[in-house]
Amino acid sequence: MARYRGPVCRLCRREGEKLFLKGDRCYSSKCAIERREGHPGQHSRLRGRFSEYKIQLREKQKVKRMYGLLEKQFRATFHEADRRKGVTGENLLQLLESRLDNMVYRSGFASSRIEGRHLVGHGHFLVNGKRVNIPSYVVSEGDVITVREKSRQIGRINESMVAVDARQVPEWIELDKNEFQAKIRALPTREQLTHPMKEQLIVELYSK
Ligand code: SF4
Repeated sequence: MARYRGPVCRLCRREGEKLFLKGDRCYSSKCAIERREGHPGQHSRLRGRFSEYKIQLREKQKVKRMYGLLEKQFRATFHEADRRKGVTGENLLQLLESRLDNMVYRSGFASSRIEGRHLVGHGHFLVNGKRVNIPSYVVSEGDVITVREKSRQIGRINESMVAVDARQVPEWIELDKNEFQAKIRALPTREQLTHPMKEQLIVELYSK
């Protein structure tokens, strides 16, 4: 399971905005974006105007990093979005949101998508009663994600379920904390995804 293993705050600083890759720290004053300005690296102040290509590239990198995908996985997701009916950019965001690691994070069982991916990979979740350990597994409307009985003592899962109250579970997920269960009421619409993302730029980049 290939993934980025470098310092994650550096990715946010590179994109110049919070990508929420580090759990609770992202919501605190310790966040590197809150404390430091500019891009990482020696010549950060020298980076100037962006070409159209560079703007598109940066948007793609930002979204790819936010959802924790590598280029090959992200491009494959784009092709699947393009193949489906509807608006490609919106299909892309919906497919990214439908990933099990993202839903585990959104439901509050993990403090970040990276942690969600880790917990899913270790087989701590059931989808509709069946154990699933594939982070890219695509969930559908009506699916129920449950923490496995013997995983309910895990500190990180319990801490995340407390901390999620601060960032709130989105309206498209129904969380039952007592049952360690989240039901996907519906897949999110474009309007419900509030993090600033310009998906059209990604479509333009990949359509060149
Ligand atoms: Fe990004 Fe979170 Fe690090 Fe802040 S703390 S820079 S949001 S990963």
